[in-house]
Amino acid sequence: MGVLTQTIKTAYDSAMENFELAADALNLSLDVRNMIKYPERILQVTLPVRMDNGHIQKFEGYRVQHSTARGPAKGGIRYHPGVTLDEVKALATWMTWKCAVVNIPFGGGKGGVTCNPKEMSLTELEHLTRRYASAILPLIGPEQDIPAPDVYTNSQVMAWIMDTYSMTKGYPIPGVVTGKPIALGGSLGRNEATGRGVFYTLQCAADHLRIPINGAKAVVQGFGNAGSIAAQLLDSHHAYVIAVSDSRGCVYNANGLDIPALINHKEMTGSVVGMANSEPIKSQEMMALDCDILIPAALENMIDAANAHDVKAEIVGEAANGPITPEADAILEAKGIFVIPDILCNAGGVTVSYFEWVQDEQHLFWEAQDVYNRLERVMKNSFSEVLKIHLDRKVSMRTAANMLGISRVAEATTLRGLYP
Ligand code: GLU
Repeated sequence: MGVLTQTIKTAYDSAMENFELAADALNLSLDVRNMIKYPERILQVTLPVRMDNGHIQKFEGYRVQHSTARGPAKGGIRYHPGVTLDEVKALATWMTWKCAVVNIPFGGGKGGVTCNPKEMSLTELEHLTRRYASAILPLIGPEQDIPAPDVYTNSQVMAWIMDTYSMTKGYPIPGVVTGKPIALGGSLGRNEATGRGVFYTLQCAADHLRIPINGAKAVVQGFGNAGSIAAQLLDSHHAYVIAVSDSRGCVYNANGLDIPALINHKEMTGSVVGMANSEPIKSQEMMALDCDILIPAALENMIDAANAHDVKAEIVGEAANGPITPEADAILEAKGIFVIPDILCNAGGVTVSYFEWVQDEQHLFWEAQDVYNRLERVMKNSFSEVLKIHLDRKVSMRTAANMLGISRVAEATTLRGLYP
């Protein structure tokens, strides 16, 4: 993270600033802005949890429903020490525009608990999850608000939420969450959907810029679900993934890292650090590496005014939500770097969440290849729609994506009218 970040804006400030840029380009009236810009509902909960040492620890949690204009609120749940209400509000806002960009019938929401799951046992995590699920229970439901995994949550966490919700209602309700284990009504292809979607949009961007993926050099910052799958797909399409990082450090090999081996290494040791045939480098050096594709796949504000000047990639694919600040956006744009914005680039996750929800509602499950084909179609069509606005209106890809998403939410809101 650049040095200037702390003194500048929060993630929600960035979300609001980017909203206004797109709303101006759309000539949106103040009335409509007032109806769609702000979160509809915010719930803050305090979660007492009995820890393994017998003591009770209290955690803060949130669920924000930013919009239900186009359908039930939809968005993940984040467990991270840095979770704040401001961050959850920003993430919920981005979910609204994201679902609209890929034109799935959902609004936007997000949840989070301020905690460090890396320091908690499985039992503690289960107790925390069940207490959180019961605290947000009045808001969630397959027709109301559907959580999913996000940073440091996974299919097991979704299984506990599904169970807590179902036990309270008295019958199984798999459609209350997505990203579940397959055995509980999860969808084939959901686990790798975000990374796969990132890859499809990278293919589109590379085609547009006439940069062959075959032989391209890529850097992946963050090696969780999204980053590792995107790296794997790039690698299997003969790109060189020359550097990768996670919360513990960065590894580099100018000739390309062995990605399948790196995934094994991370599974065995919990980190990419110490990988064979790689050298450690500093995170600032990694962001400044000479490469074709840079994928920030970790947290917000990773590229800011302090380090944006150093970026040498031709394409930046935002696998993370909000990794580039508005100031850094302007710097990257001036340098002619092509940014695939988060609400387009990482929308594959929520797209397959939608497929999962549809399968749950219908009790009819699809083959993996059906999921991949539909995902590819959604991602590539959405990319074309955003690219067209970018070219026709001469706005950045981010503003173009926001314009597409915001205009769909504005249209739905206007058609519904103002209640009461
Ligand atoms: N957490 C993911 C995101 O930020 C997925 C959300 C979902 O599937 O609902 O897009």
